[in-house]
Amino acid sequence: MNELKRIAIVGGGISGLTAAYKLLRNAQSQNLEVKIDLFESRELGGVFKTIEDQSIECRFECGPDSFFTKTPEVVELSKELEIDSHIIPTNSKKRKSLVAKDNQLIPLPDGFIMIAPSQIDSFLQSELMSEAGKKRALEEENIAPSKSEAEETVAQFVERRFGKEMLDKIVQPMVGGIYTGDVNKLSAEACLPEFVAMERTKGSIIKALAERQNSIDQDTKGARYSAFYSYEKGMSFLIDTLRKKILEMNGPTFKMNDAVLSVQKKPGGMWSLVTQNQDSNVYDALILALPATSLAKVMAELDSTIAQRASEIHCASSCVVNMVFDKSDIDPSKLDGFGFVVPELSGRALIACSYLSVKYKHRSPEQKVILRAFLGGVHNEGILQASDEKITAIVLEELDYYLKIKNKPVYTSISRWQDAMPQYTIGHQDRIKTITKRLEDFPGIFITGNFISGVGIPKCVQLASETAMNVAQFLKVQKTAQVID
Ligand SMILES: Cc1cc2nc3c(=O)[nH]c(=O)nc-3n(C[C@H](O)[C@H](O)[C@H](O)COP(=O)(O)OP(=O)(O)OC[C@H]3O[C@@H](n4cnc5c(N)ncnc54)[C@H](O)[C@@H]3O)c2cc1C
Repeated sequence: MNELKRIAIVGGGISGLTAAYKLLRNAQSQNLEVKIDLFESRELGGVFKTIEDQSIECRFECGPDSFFTKTPEVVELSKELEIDSHIIPTNSKKRKSLVAKDNQLIPLPDGFIMIAPSQIDSFLQSELMSEAGKKRALEEENIAPSKSEAEETVAQFVERRFGKEMLDKIVQPMVGGIYTGDVNKLSAEACLPEFVAMERTKGSIIKALAERQNSIDQDTKGARYSAFYSYEKGMSFLIDTLRKKILEMNGPTFKMNDAVLSVQKKPGGMWSLVTQNQDSNVYDALILALPATSLAKVMAELDSTIAQRASEIHCASSCVVNMVFDKSDIDPSKLDGFGFVVPELSGRALIACSYLSVKYKHRSPEQKVILRAFLGGVHNEGILQASDEKITAIVLEELDYYLKIKNKPVYTSISRWQDAMPQYTIGHQDRIKTITKRLEDFPGIFITGNFISGVGIPKCVQLASETAMNVAQFLKVQKTAQVID
């Protein structure tokens, strides 16, 4: 007879839910009998939050609005969950990303990939940079790779290869916008590993991209958003489906509104949790799918090194403000794209604004527009403490500066995301290595989450799937050892 294995998963974001689903799948295929308790202090989904408001027939995204398909993890998971037919592409007619220059919105050159141009003609025609700035950026092809082993910030890496103007006017708002972070602190190695590798292997990023260009499918060429997708019913559809499927697979028990406070070692290689609602079970394995800040607190009693390293991963707070306007109140030429990012040097409060209802169909009635404004990030975390009225006033001033909107919004929704975006700053990979190494002393404790090796949803899904596999393997070895004993 199979011995029942008890597992606690802590954190019910996409990482924790994917780990639960994959662990149940692995257990089925490996003939393991598992019972999972999933602890979530707030709501399932973590930062995923799609809201439907029937009164104005709109569907908003308060957290993520898209997933990248350059790596296949989310599509594969969607196939397993039988929801791949619900995946929708972005609007191909507006597949353009804009960058603010003073109060103008200028398209990102076609073929610009995160930090570098891959289509030189279109880069040369761009009005985003001066002629001298473009000339300097294109000299990248002839700049020898760095001989130093020292870790560089995103700013140092990009300025060394492409010059300061490219950093300030394009790369900072793009990369800084993703992390709501400071490019002078973020690690190039951790945030831009693909580009750092291109320098090492090909000597030049422009050359490496040119080589790759021929193999890139026509549809993914050009605009930054072309490989992004969502679900017809919004991103929370993935969370709702995961929840439904794992309930159908005989588990887990969802322990909602139960914050885990600490982890305790028990005899016989078992673990228990101190939780707000005083959970009294013992577990064969734990999967901690928590933000770094929470991991630091939960592990503090058990291991001060893990707690210290995790606490060094600052998680930035930000605010997402969804506003619905009448389309007729905005000059249509301003909405020719999926949204815009704002360079830090402009000194504005707005980090970015995305046009949700332009990007995806059926998010609002035809005569309305949903705009998502992003505020906060590492430079302005205090904004989360401001009142709704104050935040609304700031967003309206910012949107008016860029979009010249004639009337007030017909609807506003404010989401405050506290400590939500991990900052992969200099030393990040060393911190993760130390945490991983220390965990070897605690067999049965596993970690996953967006602070480890990628903040994007595909990376979270990939890591959670690997973690689930490792847990199943661990339980299997444990079971075999018990049989031999
Ligand atoms: C505003 C915003 C927009 C984004 N947009 C995109 C996008 O468009 N595309 C993309 O790919 N990525 C995007 N990201 C990043 C991506 O969404 C996240 O990195 C990812 O969803 C993180 O998932 P997670 O499960 O690792 O963490 P989380 O979603 O943070 O989940 C962790 C969970 O743990 C719970 N928890 C915390 N402490 C405890 C405790 N002590 N006990 C029990 N439970 C606890 C939390 O309540 C939470 O539910 C965005 C992020 C933000 C903040």
